[in-house]
Amino acid sequence: MATVDPASLDRLTPLRRARTVVVKIGTGVLTDPRGAIDRTVLESLANEIADLAEAPGRRVALVSSGAIALGVEALGFTARPRRMDHLQACAAAGQGLLIRLWSEVFAQRQRVAAQVLLTHSDFAERGRYLNARGALDALLTRGAIPVINENDTVSVEEIAFGDNDSLSAQVANLLGAELLVMLSVAPGLLDGERRITVVEGGDRSVDRFVRTDISGGGKGGMVTKLKAARAATAAGATAVIAPGRQPGVIAALMRGDDVGTVFLPMAQRVSARAHWIAHTLRGRGALVVDDGARRAVLEGGRSLLPSGVVEVRGTFRRGDPVDLVAAEGTPFARGLSAFSSGEMNVIRGRNSREVADLLGAPHGDEAIHRDDLVVL
Ligand code: GLU
Repeated sequence: MATVDPASLDRLTPLRRARTVVVKIGTGVLTDPRGAIDRTVLESLANEIADLAEAPGRRVALVSSGAIALGVEALGFTARPRRMDHLQACAAAGQGLLIRLWSEVFAQRQRVAAQVLLTHSDFAERGRYLNARGALDALLTRGAIPVINENDTVSVEEIAFGDNDSLSAQVANLLGAELLVMLSVAPGLLDGERRITVVEGGDRSVDRFVRTDISGGGKGGMVTKLKAARAATAAGATAVIAPGRQPGVIAALMRGDDVGTVFLPMAQRVSARAHWIAHTLRGRGALVVDDGARRAVLEGGRSLLPSGVVEVRGTFRRGDPVDLVAAEGTPFARGLSAFSSGEMNVIRGRNSREVADLLGAPHGDEAIHRDDLVVL
């Protein structure tokens, strides 16, 4: 009998313990080389997901792409169109076919497939977030398999970039899932030819294995998978990138076989609110801050004061998420602005007394309170 090495035991424990699992299947996994949906693959994955859901107390949600692929043929396009409105049309035409396919194959296993279409703003708005969670919880309690996709008619983020990777991380967070399995055409995260087997929680050194220039073209690629894995692990979940076309891949994973790349949860789990600000919200604008303010936020964990704001970018209301950027470079923090962009333009660079004189300090004198500020 083969001995189990300690590394594989480390991988196994969080996987086995997972009560709620989100499985994400990308377009590439579900389609054949001509771009048509491969029914055999779909059926065998449905069986694997049904097997996974058999474990007592286990709840499984599926995030499935493939609507566009099905719609291309249905609408008589000869190849995947390039225009966004055409792609959205394909998604609309294909979504019904996609859910029919999943319904058929899950029915063979006495499971009901339930269509759930979501967009990013559904997660960013608290009321919708709670509505979605309530409906999904009710479905999972009844043993149904929610089949989730982006609502491509009103949102195009996952078509343009992501192929549902980011959606799957948000669903995992919404459901408090302990495990997110992203099934991909890739065998996992690769360092050249070598597959990385385990990534410690929050280890950013693996970023070097992903080439942003080639991975981002249209479909998700590794960039969005890595981001999704990071978002899930920051919330305390384990994330896996695994080869979706390898027969029996989910069972292999749950047995502790060395398959795919396992991202272990971060030790320092961020609060649900901080996670929401950092991973669900997107900046509606940006504040360019001076070096003193940047250091106060990054090193001192302090609030951002109006005196440190050099420039206000974009239009936002009080309470909207804004990114903090230094003179140059990418956003280093995100927070909920205590002032609108118009107010911020009046008070930027001013000290607290001047702020009170200018605006009557209706909401205090911090531009962003430290409780509303998260370092990215
Ligand atoms: N939501 C889309 C779908 O289900 C995204 C995948 C894609 O861009 O092909 O088809």
